[in-house]
Amino acid sequence: MTKWVYLFSEVAEVEDRVPDWDAVRGLLGGKGAGLADMTRLGIPVPPGFTVTTEGCNAFQQADETLPDSLWEQELEALRALQASTGKSFGDHANPLLVSCRSGAKFSMPGMMDTILNLGLNDDVAEGLVARTKDPRFVYDAYRRLVQMFGSVVLGVPDEVFEAVITARRRRAEVESDTDLTADDWREITRKFKEIVRTYAGTDFPDDPVEQLRLATEAVFRSWGGKRAVAYRNAAGIPHDLGTAVNIQAMVFGNMGDDCATGVAMSRNASTGEPHPEGDYLINAQGEDVVAGIRKTLSLDHMRQAMPELYGEFVDIARRLEKHHGNMQDIEFTIEHSKLWLLQTRDGKRTAQAEVRIAVDMVEEGLIDRKTAVRRVQPEQIEFFLHPQLDPEARKAATPIATGLNVSPGAAVGIVALDADRAVQWANETNRPVVLVRPETKPDDVHGMLAAEGILTSRGGRTSHAALVARQFGKPAVVGVAELDIDLTTREIRVGEKVIREGEFLSLDGTLGEVFEGQMPTVRPDISNAYLSKVLDWADDYRRLGIWANADYPGDAELARSYGAEGLGLARTEHMFFEPDRLPIVQAMIMAGNVTDRAEAIEKLEPLQRADFEGLFRAMDGAPVVIRLLDPPLHEFLPAYDELLRDLADLKMRIQHYSTMSEVDSALNDIRHKEDYLDRLGSLREANPMLGTRGVRLGVLIPELTAMQARAIFEAAVSCIRDGVEVRPKIMIPLTVHANELRAQQKTIVEVAKAVQEETKTEVPYQFGTMVEAPRAALVAGELAEVAEFFSFGTNDLTQTTFGISRDDAERGFLVEYLRRGILPENPFTSIDEDGVGALIRTAVSAGRQARPDIEIGVCGEHGGDPKSIAFCHTAGLNYVSCSPYRVPVARLAAAHAALADEAAEEATEPAKAEAVVA
Ligand code: PEP
Ligand code: MG
Repeated sequence: MTKWVYLFSEVAEVEDRVPDWDAVRGLLGGKGAGLADMTRLGIPVPPGFTVTTEGCNAFQQADETLPDSLWEQELEALRALQASTGKSFGDHANPLLVSCRSGAKFSMPGMMDTILNLGLNDDVAEGLVARTKDPRFVYDAYRRLVQMFGSVVLGVPDEVFEAVITARRRRAEVESDTDLTADDWREITRKFKEIVRTYAGTDFPDDPVEQLRLATEAVFRSWGGKRAVAYRNAAGIPHDLGTAVNIQAMVFGNMGDDCATGVAMSRNASTGEPHPEGDYLINAQGEDVVAGIRKTLSLDHMRQAMPELYGEFVDIARRLEKHHGNMQDIEFTIEHSKLWLLQTRDGKRTAQAEVRIAVDMVEEGLIDRKTAVRRVQPEQIEFFLHPQLDPEARKAATPIATGLNVSPGAAVGIVALDADRAVQWANETNRPVVLVRPETKPDDVHGMLAAEGILTSRGGRTSHAALVARQFGKPAVVGVAELDIDLTTREIRVGEKVIREGEFLSLDGTLGEVFEGQMPTVRPDISNAYLSKVLDWADDYRRLGIWANADYPGDAELARSYGAEGLGLARTEHMFFEPDRLPIVQAMIMAGNVTDRAEAIEKLEPLQRADFEGLFRAMDGAPVVIRLLDPPLHEFLPAYDELLRDLADLKMRIQHYSTMSEVDSALNDIRHKEDYLDRLGSLREANPMLGTRGVRLGVLIPELTAMQARAIFEAAVSCIRDGVEVRPKIMIPLTVHANELRAQQKTIVEVAKAVQEETKTEVPYQFGTMVEAPRAALVAGELAEVAEFFSFGTNDLTQTTFGISRDDAERGFLVEYLRRGILPENPFTSIDEDGVGALIRTAVSAGRQARPDIEIGVCGEHGGDPKSIAFCHTAGLNYVSCSPYRVPVARLAAAHAALADEAAEEATEPAKAEAVVA
């Protein structure tokens, strides 16, 4: 018989059944596993039991009916719970009340349902009043049960319940719920039951056992709810995991001033500083803290107000951190000065906090370096590259309001006052949006994802807005009390100021400040000491080299400062786009005879020499791959159609000229333009991307190759003379045949010889090629007989393999293909392993067979994409080359790939050993 239900104290039985702790979490959910684990550690946890995720899946598969024996097992566990608490479910004199909470393997804050205080009915409530002498507490608890049960189980809109409370407050002329009396709550409870009857067409069930059964089913059902599904889609959580249900004895933080409830992180979740932080409320229930409805107190307040309990909490938090080797997100309740822990889980945190905590924990001996490196995700490094408000502009500006700095970074955008509008404006108008709400709820997540940043007037550090913002790396400021958001007039008032929806606001999530208007932003300094440590550790594990693509010395220096070990691609044509050079390049391409062409080429040589010198100096001691000119001609030449229009214009205008000299000059102009147009016409190609570009240009104009080679060697000699260590690698683009390489090599070798003899200086260099077309990959063995290195130009290789224009990758049919799932992902973002990847593997293998020490890298955009980097690692490449800003991301991604390999090997070791024994 399947065991569907486990007491918190039965964790050892679960461990016997499944292979590891991950599987325990899979079966009991994160919350259930955490509670069971804490119970075993002797931490004060109210007793309870967990109905497994398997139960949920069986429930879903059987059209929402509980599988055989599940309910009987739940009742048996309930009896055990009665025995351990000495209380009885539904009993008048000494009632047991329980909570029923969802808990999936991965936390999905606020996405699924919770019902508290199950076990109350009129009779039990009166018994509890007699026992506690606190009717206010009892009826507040009772109305919460009816409210939660009504909305979660029976689908009554929560607003209806809230409206009753508001009306009652108004009648009693009080501001806050805490000012309502026992009679108020008794009356409200009665009203709530009427609401349930009217809206749900059924009575609130008086039978506690019936309550428990319906609550269990409702939580199972909530796994398939719209909110939960949308959240899983956004967070990449599989849909087949199911949620567990945790039934736990209630403890109360709202039975007087020696009671409290709170949510705390064992370290600062924004900065990672090693001090607990959190929010709590005296005389309140936990949901009040998380919902952000009441203004919470900080944990520092608790240290003053309840020093002993604070001390006990900090001790437990430390033990839990040590036990889990991770920062913990802890829920606690204090009932009559007794501390209870209700939940612990790994806390969500910002990228900054992740990095700092990883480093601190290594230094505190809680985790090892590998764990630290594994824990920081390459995408989190990007966060350090996110913009911040420009410090100068910040200094000059005064914030219009301040709140809690719950998720760092700057967000500048137009105000949207609801989630749908945020999505609409962001998607349809492409404008940056800041979502501004009184507080956020799970229903707002799509708007939060679409927004650049989030601002709320209510809520604490652990409010929904804060958690979600942090998880998705959105800058956020919450709890800005002076913000008056008027959803009717669609405007925000802050003191005298009025900001209308659609106007700009700027947020500083790092300091919790709000500014009027559109402030400039800057990229942050990534030389953060904690980040440097993690990246240095990552370097110890990775096998792939990390190089950078850079065309200018400034970029090369930046890349080096980020840890680039080589320059993997200098696109020389980019240097030709400079305004003072473009006309010379155009003259060279358009030259009608050898002399004109030679003249243009000669003019370019000194300019190129200076370019290369700059790069060599910046990369002193490291390899520099210079790719010879690769210009799809249309990128350099004026547009044919435009010139044609100009000419027609000129011909029309001639009739308005009155003097002979004006006419002569116009005729001259026309003849000249016609000649130019003729030449341009003869160069026009239907598909310039597949035309006279890459090596083809060098083959047709060997003088051009010779000029670039001369510039490279002369620049190298000049640097060598200054003591700079130069390692040039000359790379030929878009090769498809070994003969192309041979032709280019001949020219280059001649120039190299000449310059070395003229200068009496030896320049060590290599000659290699890009692999950017399927043919090149397929005949890589032949290419490797000439080329000393390969670099995969995966932008072109993807374009030529798929036959999809890279220039149209962000629009047109490809977008539709991705939307419909015909292509699983954009092949220009992540390497298509089955197609492009297969070509890469073929080329690597053939290249290495022909030339075992051949150096092979990637220099397409994929070189900075973590998933593609993992592929490059497995394909056995020597390095990846990416844009300077992605170098830190790539360093970490390469380490992750190596560590994943190591873990996979470790996992197969026992299997291998078993095979040997067998
Ligand atoms: C490539 O094709 O991947 C490449 C690096 O070259 P480019 O992007 O300059 O064509
Ligand atoms: Mg290319």
